[in-house]
Amino acid sequence: MNIILFGPPAAGKGTQAKKLVSERSLIQLSTGDMLRAARASGTELGKKVAGIMDRGDLVSDEIVIALIEEQIELNPAAKGFIFDGFPRTVAQAEALDLLLTQHNTKVHSVIRLCVDDEALLTRVTKRFKEEGRKDDNPESFKVRLANYNSQTALLLPYYSTQGKLTEVDGMADVATVSTAVSKVLGKNDNGSGFSAAVVKKGFFARLFGK
Ligand code: ADP
Repeated sequence: MNIILFGPPAAGKGTQAKKLVSERSLIQLSTGDMLRAARASGTELGKKVAGIMDRGDLVSDEIVIALIEEQIELNPAAKGFIFDGFPRTVAQAEALDLLLTQHNTKVHSVIRLCVDDEALLTRVTKRFKEEGRKDDNPESFKVRLANYNSQTALLLPYYSTQGKLTEVDGMADVATVSTAVSKVLGKNDNGSGFSAAVVKKGFFARLFGK
């Protein structure tokens, strides 16, 4: 099952992605984490994206798509992926669809974490103090939010017309959000609840001889 965690910066995508990794044995692919790792190890790519990230701007589609493609190729036996912070533009969403189709799979579910702007600012201010992430400063955050609204939010109709989008209240505490996410995805890994219904039907049919 391939899941996209969607939402503005600091909505809690990373936190929920990590919970899903441990609960469902999926692989988390966070472009933000990959780019930060590239910076930390001082690669050419890291040097190229550092300024862009610190300003709060989007790294080019070409770069992030290549990072995602590489990870999908490296994990052929994965049960599924959780995309966190990707896709962020329509071009990225189209590239992801193509990549997954080439691997005979698709995006199954897109979960939008809804958090209002004021709460996002409070969270990011706290994280800036605690972790010192450069792009969590108020100016860069403003740019990130503007980019989200002008480019990333365009993906909402892209996925809702495909019937894949579900909204979850991201204002609640971590455990409550996590419960809501699990409810959307269902107990079974296919997320449809279909096999549970089939099992139940078979059970009663045997019991009552129907
Ligand atoms: P957040 O979701 O909290 O804004 P991320 O850790 O996902 O932060 O991303 C941090 C930065 O990395 C972004 O502001 C951007 O510069 C870059 N980045 C991450 N993912 C993408 C992407 N899919 N497309 C373009 N740039 C990206």
